[in-house]
Amino acid sequence: MNRIQMKTPLVEMDGDEMTRVLWAQIKEKLLLPFVDLKTEYYDLGLPHRDETGDRVTVESAEATKRLGVAVKCATITPNTQRMSEYNLHEMWKSPNGTIRAILDGTVFRAPIQVEGIRPVVRTWEQPITIARHAYGDIYKNSELQVPGAGTAELVFTAEDGTETRKLIQRFDGPGILQGVHNLDRSIESFARSCFAFALDQKQDLWFSAKDTISKTYDARFRDIFQEIYDREYREAFEDAGITYFYTLIDDAVARVIRSKGGFIWACKNYDGDVMSDMLATAFGSLAMMTSVLVSPDGQYEYEAAHGTVTRHYYRYLKGESTSTNPTATIFAWSGALRKRGELDELDDLVDFADLLEEATIATIESGVMTRDLALLWEGEAEAQPVDSTAFLDAIAAHIDNYLSETDAEGDMPDFEHFTLVDDEGREEDFVLVYRTVRDEEEYAVMFSAEDAEKVLVVRCVYEDGNDDAYHFAAPEDGIADDVFAEFMQECPEFFASDDEEEDADE
Ligand code: NAP
Ligand code: MG
Repeated sequence: MNRIQMKTPLVEMDGDEMTRVLWAQIKEKLLLPFVDLKTEYYDLGLPHRDETGDRVTVESAEATKRLGVAVKCATITPNTQRMSEYNLHEMWKSPNGTIRAILDGTVFRAPIQVEGIRPVVRTWEQPITIARHAYGDIYKNSELQVPGAGTAELVFTAEDGTETRKLIQRFDGPGILQGVHNLDRSIESFARSCFAFALDQKQDLWFSAKDTISKTYDARFRDIFQEIYDREYREAFEDAGITYFYTLIDDAVARVIRSKGGFIWACKNYDGDVMSDMLATAFGSLAMMTSVLVSPDGQYEYEAAHGTVTRHYYRYLKGESTSTNPTATIFAWSGALRKRGELDELDDLVDFADLLEEATIATIESGVMTRDLALLWEGEAEAQPVDSTAFLDAIAAHIDNYLSETDAEGDMPDFEHFTLVDDEGREEDFVLVYRTVRDEEEYAVMFSAEDAEKVLVVRCVYEDGNDDAYHFAAPEDGIADDVFAEFMQECPEFFASDDEEEDADE
């Protein structure tokens, strides 16, 4: 089997604990056998972040700016307990925060749906993606406890010294105060990321805020979205047959519950924080939630929405097998490979990304799943909870099965096409099935594009200086038995004996 080729490398950001263990297994079992994987590898595991003074995180984000598509494993955000556990030089900042600050992106989170794990909301047929603004509001606020009676004002001092004041409240007793802000620049890039992502996904975009009450602050969000939409995206949305609309957050919540799903819901920072947890739970589980950071310049970083699953990792370290769910991490890889395939126009890679997702879902739907899902299972097949390794093996078997079935039916995944010229100068189109090298000579199995019965075993003889144009040397030139043996093993469906074919016809 030819492995699928890539052009541009993915930025690969390795991570910590249980997800790091799964990361290596996903590559070994689900990616490397099928794809000639090209990545630029950055080890964001906590020990290496500490060794490099967190330079590696910055470098991985810069690589994402350069190459366009990244896939990230979950990473530890250190706290005091981690300081001693990993003997750290410093309490490094959240890698996701660092990467987001460099790429200036918006985070989109979407559930992975399977038949058999039903959303709590029965009307939801398709996933709902939350786009969360990740800057400002209460996440960058100033707060005060008011000790007693007094006056609170908002004061803005311009660079030239002019002051603008506005009364907040005349306190007649103790209370609390909070100051929040946002930036036009940040809201604009949030809006552009949302519009670009909606076009990419070909889904409607909703945006909600509380502009009836917050007539300046939330209204500014509403207006910036509308201006950018009208000026830069309306035409493209109309061409794609999708819509953008703004509505009050109360109305949005009611509509979301009554909807069938299948749209993107842009939320302000706090709304997105809360609503994404509600949606993840209502759709099933955090282990089934994907997350992608999209920058306004169109760079993509894919990851799972969950963390490093520390509790499972401690059990793994004790030598116990764990039933940690790798689905969201697999979907981070498939998302990144699909995007890479789209950008590089590699249909095979896009098809493989689809196949990887289909095989994962088919495995779960056949009843083979990790324990977290078995608890939620309402499907027809009986749930067979397995450990992570057995789950990944089952997915790999699905992929193998699918590929060999399509091979046997002659509905080949895209193989290379060749025009071969025989000794008398006749041309015929062939499709390459399998190729091997012995003693610096190349041999191939090909079948005719015109006559599906016709299978050729050839020694490849290249035309001078042209690696693409080879004609075939007839088998009587001598093809060793061991080459034939390898062909029989690697593509048996092309060497079925007549007897077997007759059996199959009956
Ligand atoms: P977590 O790793 O998401 O795990 C919380 C719990 O959720 C687990 O103990 C497990 O429950 C369940 N769970 C999560 N993912 C699962 C999966 N794939 N399969 C099965 N069960 C799963 O969150 P956390 O324990 O709060 O954080 C652990 C570390 O991850 C922290 O150091 C944090 O900094 C980091 N983190 C990183 C990211 C990121 O890189 N994007 C995000 C969040 C957290 P049971 O134990 O009950 O089975
Ligand atoms: Mg939250």
